[in-house]
Amino acid sequence: MIYDDLGLAPVVNANATLTALGGSLMPRPVVDAMAEAAAAFVDMFELQRAVSARLAALTRNESALVVTGASAGLLVGALGMMTGADHRKLGTLLEHGARALPRHEIIMHRAHRIPYDNVLTLAGAGVVEIGNAIQTFPWELEAAIGERTAGILYVAGEHLARAALPLPEVAAIAGEHGVPVLVDAAAQLPPRENLWRFTEQGAALAVFSGGKELRGPQSSGLVVGTAEAVAACELHAAPHQRFGRPAKVGKEEMVGLLAAVEWWMERDLDADAKRIERATRRWIDELGSLPGLTVTRDFPSEAGRPLPRALVSWGPGLGLTGADCARLLRAGDPPIDVAVAGERAVWLNAELLTAEEEAVVSARTAAVLGPRGSAST
Ligand SMILES: *Cc1c(COP(=O)(O)O)cnc(C)c1O
Repeated sequence: MIYDDLGLAPVVNANATLTALGGSLMPRPVVDAMAEAAAAFVDMFELQRAVSARLAALTRNESALVVTGASAGLLVGALGMMTGADHRKLGTLLEHGARALPRHEIIMHRAHRIPYDNVLTLAGAGVVEIGNAIQTFPWELEAAIGERTAGILYVAGEHLARAALPLPEVAAIAGEHGVPVLVDAAAQLPPRENLWRFTEQGAALAVFSGGKELRGPQSSGLVVGTAEAVAACELHAAPHQRFGRPAKVGKEEMVGLLAAVEWWMERDLDADAKRIERATRRWIDELGSLPGLTVTRDFPSEAGRPLPRALVSWGPGLGLTGADCARLLRAGDPPIDVAVAGERAVWLNAELLTAEEEAVVSARTAAVLGPRGSAST
């Protein structure tokens, strides 16, 4: 194993499809497709067109584009909304930066500000915020749209929805003003319908991570949308030598993401959800019977996805914090990564585990949180 050669121990991922842990694991058909793509030269513009056409059909969208991640999708999306498919505006952008463009502002709900939105600054856009952490009104969006508005960035997810306007309402208002909406849907799979739901609800573009649920290459992402909006994104992307060039997509990633989406469209998502449900129940039974531990089914999981996790919590008597527990699990053999859920709680997520790993997670968590003195790590 290459990681052993490097002196690193592979991590059991009971957390989530985290970039910091390597995203996700590619299934065999994806690895094979990438190896095949690596074996021959190809015209990259033609490959992009062919892959895009397949991805558009699979995701029921007019058009699609492979990028190096959802973040890169936000970058070319923001650039595309500011220039449209207009080469004169592209020239202005490349020569003078985004602020020289007539439309360089992107509107966001204040409740949608996330760490990834700094890509808008990288694109040179100005961010105009609407609403607050608690609520947003339609008139606030109306008032924010003006002659400098290039588009709206809308971050999807049940966990962010409460304080924001619903997407169809945002799209309707934006549509009246001819302003495009870009949806950050990086981690919004499953359900499968989300691949077309956001664009059906009126978004011009939606971006998804290839290296999360889709199990594509870690450095891949998917942009879907209208032909016009995707063409505007393409204007900025490699192989052109433009602002999207630092996010160049290789032939291997292009083919790998297509193979991943094909694989994922065929995947039995119900069976997988049932497996995750069973593992969660198992942890509730096994760990919930230990003195001092409370284990419940937590739903939905991270990013508001419709999958359960086990929430393991305990009282002060154990003398450990959630962070202590996560650190001890990570320091053991094999290292296990879990999410800290609070002062004295962690989440266990079965999504990315094998059956053997589910058992290991159960045993090691019991050892760390079990009756005092039994902790072996
Ligand atoms: C993961 C994530 C991103 C970044 O996606 P990458 O594919 O890693 O670039 C952006 N936005 C949200 C909401 C995410 O969860």
